[in-house]
Amino acid sequence: DLILTEKGFMQQNELSYPFEERGLQFGDGVYEVIRIYQGNYHLLNEHVDRLFRSAEAIKIEVPFSKTEMHEYLSELLEKNSVAKDAKLYLQLTRGSAPRSHEFPLNVSSNLYAYVKDFERDLESMREGVATVTLEDIRWEWCYIKSLNLLPNVLAKQHAKEHGAKEAILYKEGMVTEGSSSNIYLVRDGKVYTHPATKRILGGCVRMKIQELCKEKEIPFIEEAFQVEDISYADEMFATSTTAEILPILKVDTVSVGDGEPGKITRELQRLYEKDAHI
Ligand code: PMP
Repeated sequence: DLILTEKGFMQQNELSYPFEERGLQFGDGVYEVIRIYQGNYHLLNEHVDRLFRSAEAIKIEVPFSKTEMHEYLSELLEKNSVAKDAKLYLQLTRGSAPRSHEFPLNVSSNLYAYVKDFERDLESMREGVATVTLEDIRWEWCYIKSLNLLPNVLAKQHAKEHGAKEAILYKEGMVTEGSSSNIYLVRDGKVYTHPATKRILGGCVRMKIQELCKEKEIPFIEEAFQVEDISYADEMFATSTTAEILPILKVDTVSVGDGEPGKITRELQRLYEKDAHI
């Protein structure tokens, strides 16, 4: 299995890091997960653009230009034989240096990316999922896809321990996003979701949902809704690269709408699959 690094392609088992590595010691880095359908990257431009935005926001230099990144990622996929459904994980850190908080001088960033088979969770997409709410205790710069995922890890574990698939996070009573997804509420034929401010990660699937809604003249309203609004929702759903579009049937003890996946959610699932050729 070949991986891509800042030094070029190498075997997975050839990659090693000194223990003083800033991603390991500080979570000082950013990452991306890109979906591969039928052997092709999905929403590649969006993911590469976001990687560069995240890196710039925390002043980490990307070792390649955007054009090179596209070339190398394509080459990575060609060099590996993955199943038709797969995903890429890429992470970029500030590099390896003696442990000290400030940026190290004259140290180049570390990057690695690998592809791996990954099956679609058809059951969750078809049947829908239960969720729980949890206070969003994260920092104010959630638009950066940072390696610091501790609050997200704890939130997802909390969901799991409560028999739920996702934790819906709220700040000051407003739903921000999920622990690893964007969250939407449908009411009277309109789709509501938190605006793509610094408080949430602007999902690549979210961008696609916005585009699909526009095409189908489904109002897409970037307005945060409150946790209390959930009782009046007709439908809810979550989106992410790995989960795609998940109908949300339950939030804590409240059933969403009639407790079945909603009409607009189903329509968006259909449009998303058609658009991605899956
Ligand atoms: N918010 C958070 C916190 C996430 O981790 C993810 C998954 N990357 C998303 C939203 C959805 O982003 P995307 O659609 O790009 O996967």
